[in-house]
Order: sequence, then C-alpha cells, then structure tokens
Amino acid sequence: MSRQSNPVVTELSSGIWSTSPLYQNAVLDLDLAGRKMGIDPNVLDRLKAPKRAMCVTIPVRMDDGSVRNFEGYRVQHNTTLGPGKGGIRFHPEVNLSEVSALAMLMTMKCSLVGLPLGGAKGGVRVDPRKLSRPEHQALTRRFTMEIINMIGPEIDIPAPDVGTDGQHMAWMMDTYSMSKGHAIPGVVTGKPIEIGGSLGRVESTGRGVVYVIEHAIELLRKKGKANYQLKEMSAAVHGFGKVGSVAAHELAIRGCKVVAVSDFYGAIYNPKGLNVPEVVAYMDAHRNLKGYPHAEVITNEQLIALDVDILVPAAIDGVITAANVKNVKAKIISEGANGPITSEAQAYLEEHGVTVIPDILANAGGVIVSYFEWVQGMQQFFWNENEVNEKLAEVMAKAFNQVASVADRYHCGMKTAALISSVERLSKAMLLRGLFP
Ligand code: GLU
Repeated sequence: MSRQSNPVVTELSSGIWSTSPLYQNAVLDLDLAGRKMGIDPNVLDRLKAPKRAMCVTIPVRMDDGSVRNFEGYRVQHNTTLGPGKGGIRFHPEVNLSEVSALAMLMTMKCSLVGLPLGGAKGGVRVDPRKLSRPEHQALTRRFTMEIINMIGPEIDIPAPDVGTDGQHMAWMMDTYSMSKGHAIPGVVTGKPIEIGGSLGRVESTGRGVVYVIEHAIELLRKKGKANYQLKEMSAAVHGFGKVGSVAAHELAIRGCKVVAVSDFYGAIYNPKGLNVPEVVAYMDAHRNLKGYPHAEVITNEQLIALDVDILVPAAIDGVITAANVKNVKAKIISEGANGPITSEAQAYLEEHGVTVIPDILANAGGVIVSYFEWVQGMQQFFWNENEVNEKLAEVMAKAFNQVASVADRYHCGMKTAALISSVERLSKAMLLRGLFP
C-alpha cells in the first residue's frame, strides 16, 4: 500500500529525524494539538525531536555460513516521566526516522495513560519471515549487545513490536543478564511467563483495542449521536497478528460479526461472519491465511473499503491515506497499529463524522500491561489474569474518559484530544524539572 509523503514539515523537524512520512505526520499532529492547547513553544519544539538515538550495524552469521549485516536502531524520545519504554520492531522498512516517530508515539502513549515511563523504540531493518530461528536468535542477541549501554530496567525497557515476540524478549533478557552476571528480568517486558512475564500481556493490546470501541459506543449513545449495540455490528480487521487476531476474537465473543481479516498476503471475507477461533487455528497451523476454506479472498484495499460498522487497522502505519480514505465506510475506527491513518486521512474522517480512536489510546493496552509486568517483576509478586485485565480496563477507561472530556473542552477530534491530554501531563513535568544545566 502506498505511503503518502506530507509536504508540510516545520523547521524544527527538518533534520535527520524527519525523512519518513510517519515522522512528518507525527509532527503535524503534535503541532496541531500544541497550537490548540497553547502550549509553551519551547516544550513543543523539544518534543519534535528525540533525546537520543543509537544506530548500529549487526553482523549475523547466516545458516549458509555467510555473514550479513543489518541496520539497527534504538531511539529514546523523552525520559522526563521515567525510563524509556517501547518495542523492538523487525521489519524491512525500518529506518531511523520511522523508529524516531514511533518513539515519539510511545512518549505520548505512556504520558496519556499515566504511566511513569518515557518513550522509546527500536528496530532492525530486516524481513523477519526470511530468517530461520537460529538467525533470529543471533540477530537479537547481537543487537542487544550493540545497544546494551542504552537499555536497563531503570534506563530503557524494550518489548515486542511488529515482527518480534516473547521469544525475542527472552533472548534479549538472557543476553543482558549474561553480560551483568545475574538474571535481570526487568530489562524487557513482554517476556514469556516462565521468566517473569505477566499473565494477559500477549492479549493486552488487542483487548484494549476492543475496550475502547465499547467506550466509544457508550459515548455515542450518551451524546444521542447513535444507538449502536456491539452485538448488532459488523467489523473488519486489517492485520491478523498479535493485535488483530486478539481484537477479532474479543469482538466476536461480544457478538460482533467479524466479516473480514487480513494478513500480508491478502484478506478473507465472509459476509455471514467468520468463525474467528477457526481462523486463528488455521493461522497457527499455516502461518498465513492463504487457502482458508470458508471465505472468499479479497485484497487488503477491498477490506478497508468494506461496508462494515467497525474497522480495526492493526497491521502497520500508513494504510489509510488521502488516496483511499474516501472508500472507508466504517463508523468507528480503533487504531490497533501505530500510525495507520495519515494526518490528511484523519482530517477527512473527522469531517465526515467517523469516530477514530487514536493509536496512543486504542493500542495502549500493550504498554499498560508491560508496565504491570515491570511492577510485578520488581515486587516479585505476580497477579492473576483477572487482576491484570481489571486493572487494564480501569486504566483504559480513565484515559478514554479523559480524552473524551478534552475533546469536548477543545471542540476537537479524539486524536488531537489524546495528544493534548498527553502533552498537558508531560509539559507540566518538563517545566517542573526545568532545563539542565
Ligand atoms: N510495541 C508496543 C507499542 O507500540 C508495546 C510497547 C511496550 O510494551 O513497551 O505500544
């Protein structure tokens, strides 16, 4: 799908960070929110660029005996509220600018939902589907070693993101621990349960995506704008990975008809509703949706244009752009991925009355339970899954209500309101701490 480049770049974002559309969109969105709330311009400018970034080359001995070098990055955008926090992405389009934008989104996300954490992100420019398991392990361990001085339980805490999972976190934790001489589980979150992970972490992002859809339906009802019932609605989910598959499942168990889901290769569609557990089992067995028997094949673009009530873009950034936004028919969109809707497309959707629950709110469930994992690990006291889910729901509900009230106060959409909420908290902290030296 095409990525749209945005022509407007403010002068302070025109350096090495700003080459990607994702970064340009993030700065535009931040600018819009900053102007609306009348933020101190010094604070706004500081937030337009990351605090620190590390670029590394990662040599990996491949299974055939050759050595290949991969580019890797770790970017800390802001650490005013606490240690850096954010995932590690393995994706062929990773670059410094994109990772910087994603780190900025993490700062906004953590601040919005009230976590004592800053924003960071990492990534390696690689196609993870083309690596064997030993190559994944070698790449992850060497990358960890290259960025080792930048990370730590009190410095910056990685987690899974696109193309990585609990196994990668286990290798990172082991590599870090080996270098220090003792087990340090708190260096990463999203770990497997056996080595200090939290119950409910794997499902947390997808669950949160659906919690906020429920809140949005409730809000539309309270405002007399629409009287939706989730069990009478239909949904399409773009991306059937860690986030999309859980979101589809959570929607289905609430009675919502999930008519389409997609992966990298294409989408499957059944107007009568897909049997989501069966699709999940098919995905587990075949590693992609190709050949799933009880649905017709459509393209990802057709999925985005389906006549459904709810759309969950849960794959990657830049999928709903000025080029295809006019085809969108959904009334509620919950951004499971980071940055799936460009600024221009966002403006169009808002003008046309579509409720868009922005990424930093909709997909915050992952980092919220990452925070719970970090806290449980520090206390060496682990909660059961109900406790985790209840606390997750509580934090998400509070953040949703806060965003809704800021949207009313500033007469703006939820995207701008979420950024205003986030920056309100963060800017107070930045001003209190003051400028060093
Ligand atoms: N990668 C996830 C995100 O973008 C989770 C980050 C974390 O748990 O630190 O929010």
